[in-house]
Amino acid sequence: MKKLLLVLAALAVVAMTVAADSDKLTVKTTTRQVGAYQEKRVLNVDESNFYKGRNKVQGVVLHHTACSSMQKALGALLSPGTGRSCHVAIDRDGTRYILADPETITKHAGYSYFMGREKVSEFTIGIEFQSVDTRVQPLTNEQIESAIDYLLPIIKKYHIRLSGITTHEQVRTAWLKRHPGSDVPEKVDIAQADYERFMAALRKRLGR
Ligand SMILES: [Zn+2]
Repeated sequence: MKKLLLVLAALAVVAMTVAADSDKLTVKTTTRQVGAYQEKRVLNVDESNFYKGRNKVQGVVLHHTACSSMQKALGALLSPGTGRSCHVAIDRDGTRYILADPETITKHAGYSYFMGREKVSEFTIGIEFQSVDTRVQPLTNEQIESAIDYLLPIIKKYHIRLSGITTHEQVRTAWLKRHPGSDVPEKVDIAQADYERFMAALRKRLGR
């Protein structure tokens, strides 16, 4: 019996440690309803995950989080020193987490090439969609429509063309072509089929 109690006590300690870790990743937000979806402004972003300077927005890069839940994805995006950030992360139900204003430079594209330039993060908006992998867990219609709601005013304000909207995979592949032999891992982010779904939905909303 004593042994059993000791084991239970040990388990309790483990459970508390896990809880403490999750607590560190508490996402502090203010919420408002914008059209059909909730928009949560994240208050506890870590500035060290952004670049200094002003983002002269010319394009948009679509990503999936490759995490098992939005909570985990936000944990990675909010923890200091991960060197990962984006402008908006969109959950499966279309809820948007706003992490930065458009003119902040977020670290989402890494080794990348687009529109004749490298360092694509410096002139694009980064959108992260919650999905383990869009090849096996495609974007929901809610994610697509919510992203379009978010993007329409940005597209208008910065005169972004449809050709300025791309995926992480496309900009990484373009970079790798210019730097053959480098060991940057390839990652399908987002799947081509979902990129095409997204663009079709966007064209429909824009009437183009
Ligand atoms: Zn990505």
